[in-house]
Amino acid sequence: GTDTQWGDVDSYLVAETVHEDDALVAARASAREHGLPPIEVAPNQGAFLSLLARMCGARRVLEVGTLAGYSSIWLARAVGPQGRVTTVERDPRHAKVARENHDRAGVSERVDVEVGPALDVLARLVDDGAAPYDLVFIDADKANMPAYLDLAMRLVRSGSVIVGDNVVRRGAVVDPDSPDADVQGVRAFLHALGSDPRLEATALQTVGSKGWDGFAVARVR
Ligand code: SAM
Repeated sequence: GTDTQWGDVDSYLVAETVHEDDALVAARASAREHGLPPIEVAPNQGAFLSLLARMCGARRVLEVGTLAGYSSIWLARAVGPQGRVTTVERDPRHAKVARENHDRAGVSERVDVEVGPALDVLARLVDDGAAPYDLVFIDADKANMPAYLDLAMRLVRSGSVIVGDNVVRRGAVVDPDSPDADVQGVRAFLHALGSDPRLEATALQTVGSKGWDGFAVARVR
């Protein structure tokens, strides 16, 4: 397959199965207008996250990496009006765009955008004794993924779901000698996910509009 074919098939699958409303379309557009990088999840990935959250009845979701709020809108809709999404973003400009997008989507009442380095914000949530999150979506700087997993493990309960994005990196993940800190972060994350007796995990490769990548999913025993 080629990137073009994968993109065409993704467009087809999205057209047939995913129904983005105006607010989701606007969230992606606003990210481009504000010059944010095009690294939000694809529409079918957003819908997948939303389905996963609904399937596990998630009411409390923690997201690491907000960008323009695209995935957090999907998650906020999944948790319903009684639910809560906490999403962490280091860049205040991204956080501002995200809040505008949450407003337009009508979900700002149920989304907290925490601005700061995720290591600090997650450590503070642990210190504050935050109630457990039902689903954690890790989608920020990949070098810190193992540290985010460690912190996430202190913020979950039995049955919680942890999702990590971008774990294939166009195949680069198989190189144990990679000089790329993101690759090493993903490798350590996958190793921890698969060897922690408190977790059951898997990881899947994907192709599509985002090229060759993949995600990992784990459930807390
Ligand atoms: N989850 C978003 C979506 O799908 O709509 C995309 C998130 S984007 C891939 C990653 C985001 O993480 C960027 O906005 C970046 O500024 C943020 N980020 C990077 N390093 C961070 C850190 N150390 N702490 C918090 N956020 C960070």
